[in-house]
Amino acid sequence: MGNSSITSNGLEYSLGNTKVPFVIVNFTSATACPAKRLGLCQCPVACYAKQQEEMWPTVLPFRTRQATWWETATSHQVNLAADEMEQQRQNRQTVAKDKVLRFSEAGDFVSQKQINLFAQFAQRLMSYGWTIYGYTARTDLNLFPLINIGVKINLSNDSKTYAKVTNRFKAVKQASGNSFLCQGDCRTCKVCRIVTGKTIEIALHGKRKYKQELS
Ligand code: SF4
Repeated sequence: MGNSSITSNGLEYSLGNTKVPFVIVNFTSATACPAKRLGLCQCPVACYAKQQEEMWPTVLPFRTRQATWWETATSHQVNLAADEMEQQRQNRQTVAKDKVLRFSEAGDFVSQKQINLFAQFAQRLMSYGWTIYGYTARTDLNLFPLINIGVKINLSNDSKTYAKVTNRFKAVKQASGNSFLCQGDCRTCKVCRIVTGKTIEIALHGKRKYKQELS
């Protein structure tokens, strides 16, 4: 696992990696992913985030601690955490220096209450000029509290309701040739941070056998 940081009230967050050099926040691990449990995930077996949790012993405990923080966080705590994250960003020299936060690299939102709380947290960071973007398959929940304040959402599930106000992030075995194909380097690509209702395809990576999951 790469570098991470923590606020004084206990919110742990990743500082990304060479290809995703941003602050990263998860609400659950992939192991405990609610979208998978609800049958909303498009590739529950091929999940790259779950593979990381199986491969590296520190990853699952880190994400589980993040989930615990979000489960018990209050409005006051998320505001304090956002303020401190901006302060910490200012104090960093190079790593995750950009005002960008990516959410749900692993796992997903657990409830509507959590979406509403995250919207408040996101708005606080956005007041400092941050861009907030991420991924969810929770099309069964109301995502408009996030969409309406300008959080950029990439849906890993199909939805008519959200089709025009999100992007569709779709795992494929082979590129269709009709959509933008993710090259996996977010340093130079901003496609997930600009929502236009487009489809972004991502070729499944990780263990080859998992690719059998998608047709
Ligand atoms: S489409 Fe671009 S921004 Fe989105 S994950 Fe891929 S490289 Fe990153």
